[in-house]
Amino acid sequence: MKIQLTRTNTMGKKKLYLATGNKHKREEIQQILQDYEIRIPSDDGIDFDPVEDGKSFYENSLIKARALWNLVHEPVIADDSGICVDALGGEPGIYTSRYAGPDFMHGKADGSKISQEQQNSFLIQQLNDTKSEKRSCHYTCAMVLLLNPDRFFVAQETFEGQLIHSIEEAAGNGGFGYDPIVYLPDYKKTVAQISSEEKNRISHRGKALKTIAKILENLEF
Ligand code: IMP
Repeated sequence: MKIQLTRTNTMGKKKLYLATGNKHKREEIQQILQDYEIRIPSDDGIDFDPVEDGKSFYENSLIKARALWNLVHEPVIADDSGICVDALGGEPGIYTSRYAGPDFMHGKADGSKISQEQQNSFLIQQLNDTKSEKRSCHYTCAMVLLLNPDRFFVAQETFEGQLIHSIEEAAGNGGFGYDPIVYLPDYKKTVAQISSEEKNRISHRGKALKTIAKILENLEF
């Protein structure tokens, strides 16, 4: 099947769908893919909440990409990401967006969520409870560019940091999610304290997307 990336907006930019409901992710991705208009399902009034039952970041990313492709029948990008804490055996990992503390590492049975502030406090407390000296963690992002159900590309990247020791040390207003509690020793700042340009340069999502952008540029349809 020939791929189409021909629908343009009034500025002449090509539209590319992103399989997410997260506006922060859209902003980060739009900043890198400046030649495209990044659209998320809610922009077009599309309800989008696929069941993410994959066993890895990459599987979940592909699930989201396929689900959105089935709705729009156009090339889409999708990402699945999360935070992996070394002293917690890499948890919460693929369950990050559902993480609700030590008793509900993989989410609550009724699907209800807790606030990001509560997630941040729980995660620090959970790491402190291990008494481990190790504060290392990393974000992971698996990004998929799906042109049609049989043609897709994947890039997976990481972004290393350290979890702060107490919620009182949380700092910064940038980014989203766990960024105020992830410390970058080289910068002496949390991820939420660096600029969005700098985050995009070094982050899991930024690095994965740059690879996907190169693939997109070089595609000979
Ligand atoms: P996803 O939408 O299923 O990929 O959920 C990923 C979750 O991981 C988000 O809800 C955030 O809590 C967390 N996360 C992923 N990337 C970042 C980031 O760049 N900063 C902070 N938190 C992130």
